[in-house]
Amino acid sequence: MRYQKLAELYEALSGTPKRLEKTEILSKFLKYLHESDREILYLLLGSIYPEYNEKKMGISSQLTIKAISKATGTESRQVVREWKNLGDLGEVAEKLTEHKKQSTLHSHILTTEKVISNLRKLPELEGNGTVDKKISLITELLTSASPIEAKYLARTLIGDLRVGIHESTVREAMSSAFFNKDKEASKKIQEAVDKSNDLADVFDIARKGKLKELEKVSLEVGKPIKVMLAQKVEDIKKGFKAVGKPCAIEYKYDGFRLIIHKKEDEIILFTRRLENVTKQFPEVVEYVKKYVKGKSFILDTEAVGFDKKTKKYKPFQAVSQRIRRKYDIEKLKETLPIEINVFDIIYYNGMSQLNEPFEKRTKLIKKIIEKHPYKITPSKQIITKDEKKAEEFYKKALKDNQEGVMMKNLQAVYQPGSRVGHMLKVKPEDRDFDLVITGAEYGTGKRFGWLTSFILSCRDKNNFLEIGKMGTGIKEKEEHGVSFNELTKELKPLIIKEKGRSVTIKPKIVIAVTYQEIQKSPNYSSGFALRFPRFTALRPDKPLSEITTLNEVKKEFER
Ligand code: AMP
Repeated sequence: MRYQKLAELYEALSGTPKRLEKTEILSKFLKYLHESDREILYLLLGSIYPEYNEKKMGISSQLTIKAISKATGTESRQVVREWKNLGDLGEVAEKLTEHKKQSTLHSHILTTEKVISNLRKLPELEGNGTVDKKISLITELLTSASPIEAKYLARTLIGDLRVGIHESTVREAMSSAFFNKDKEASKKIQEAVDKSNDLADVFDIARKGKLKELEKVSLEVGKPIKVMLAQKVEDIKKGFKAVGKPCAIEYKYDGFRLIIHKKEDEIILFTRRLENVTKQFPEVVEYVKKYVKGKSFILDTEAVGFDKKTKKYKPFQAVSQRIRRKYDIEKLKETLPIEINVFDIIYYNGMSQLNEPFEKRTKLIKKIIEKHPYKITPSKQIITKDEKKAEEFYKKALKDNQEGVMMKNLQAVYQPGSRVGHMLKVKPEDRDFDLVITGAEYGTGKRFGWLTSFILSCRDKNNFLEIGKMGTGIKEKEEHGVSFNELTKELKPLIIKEKGRSVTIKPKIVIAVTYQEIQKSPNYSSGFALRFPRFTALRPDKPLSEITTLNEVKKEFER
């Protein structure tokens, strides 16, 4: 397909803020796609692979500026000046391509296949001259591009498409295009996406318009799935009311979620952000091989850090660096040991366990895991209808340095990707949020060159709303924790706009923050401001879909 057609679709989508209209525009577009156009489904959301694929384009604004400069014959300095003026590299590319087009007549036709092919080469490049090769792959595309094609190419490269569509819009558009917006179909499409995490795969099936076929999208060991999420209740009493008596009550470990797949002899570990982190946890691979029976399985677990000497559990922030660090792994394994607590099972020996009741799944866990505390173990659990026993267990969990407890309905199925009312978390008020960094300011003086003040945002459906500015809790020196230098390095490639010392940052980096109070505030788009927010940890495992929502902020404010 001509890339121009896709660019025109993007343009039409940006032309309306209304969700329903966007869905209709997209639905019409999807109807005319052929089977061979399936990969356009990735481009629609500004990507080149399904969400879980590790290969990322990795193109910064700076690199895109160089490519625009080359393709349009404009000096880099001029491109930067335009960027500061217009605030959007897409518009810069469009404007400069327009200028160039007036002086040259010849142009090639750009296809979506060519765009995907060149963009997919980017993550493969390694070694000497990588930067130059990247620039020339991008320049090749931009040189053949029409002005609006250049606009959306540039935006795709920096990961800021700005057309206001999300996975949910694509799902709804599929339902509208192929099933006449049938409610049942929307649900089935969502379930298929939550299991496969691949919009192109689901598109292949949906376009045939057969509901039954969608049900066949199944789990695949080795391919990450979205995990089931918990709702919150205030106390044990309310918990019982919601999940029924008796129920299972488990420690809510203060760690990070690891989803463990075994496929033949291979063990693969994923975070809830669908990232493969197998290399970071060689000891977990070993525990699973040694102590878990079964040819193939998917286990849902919480990894929690502990002190090797005292055997006391440590808070998440003490071990969070294990998720990201790709070097010194043998050393980290010793200094920051973790215990795997298995709390659910999604697949076992060729059979999906999704529709089995929790009671049965939890029994299966106990059957197949040889319990080895401080290595791998079923999570601590009681099954009770006695409120007093439940309260005691809750107290014990807190005394054991854990966050609280989870209360689980015994008959409930496993629903990937859903925040369900049959698995509840109970924890004391702790005044902490998981937020995303959406802006920052460069420091001055001693802190020159570092980003030192960070704009934090919460989520409201698919939008991010600002809720405060934070500078404390981050360290000047690397060895004391997460440093300004480290954070600056992470954030710089995500800069999409600069103005003086302030930058706008693509929402990606999720952090845990504590605060003293929530106030109403007209200064931030959420309508709230955190007083004295303080950084506690990076949350590289948490996807944007799971950060604190505006509703949760409101609830905490009312409390
Ligand atoms: P939150 O991150 O506050 O939404 O709490 C839910 C998280 O608690 C889950 O995503 C898990 O990572 C974690 N968790 C810890 N212990 C358990 C458990 N026993 N069962 C389920 N989730 C648990």
